[in-house]
Amino acid sequence: EPIALAELVDEVIDQFNLIAYKKDIKLLRHLNDECIVYGDADRLEQVIRNLLDNALTYTPGGKQVEVRLEQKGEDVTLLIRDEGIGIPTKEIDAVKQRFYRVKKARERKDGGTGLGLSIVSQIIAKHGGTFSLESTENVGTTASIHLKGIL
Ligand code: ATP
Ligand code: MG
Repeated sequence: EPIALAELVDEVIDQFNLIAYKKDIKLLRHLNDECIVYGDADRLEQVIRNLLDNALTYTPGGKQVEVRLEQKGEDVTLLIRDEGIGIPTKEIDAVKQRFYRVKKARERKDGGTGLGLSIVSQIIAKHGGTFSLESTENVGTTASIHLKGIL
């Protein structure tokens, strides 16, 4: 089914607004509302939820999280950028594996299972897209999703 991604992203951000507010994290959205992709809306919602959950969980209060949705030609990009604790370079691939959590996250005892990013990877692969992470420890993390949009 064709999905209006900005609407979906908006809905998920609304679900997280109170959590962000309580944590004193500013949640910014820059969404191109013309992006349409083919896919499974429930699964894509799960992707956005998992990535936003991570961004808010691994970012301290007072910082910000930005969600950006862009389209250039048929390439749709969804970026979730945080100013959090970051992921050590040597673990950037491992965190996409099931049950993998970096040591710092395990010490936080915030109850994560380490499944979120493996689910994101699987869903995006099924949609024919790509998912990547870029991160600098103690600076922040950007999760990027690329999908083919409808022109
Ligand atoms: P859950 O299953 O509840 O999502 P989780 O958040 O631990 O548990 P993943 O979402 O798969 O699992 O993330 C795996 C690990 O990658 C996390 O435990 C954390 O160490 C690291 N990580 C993921 N996203 C971020 C982020 N935005 N900033 C810093 N570390 C992150
Ligand atoms: Mg997670």
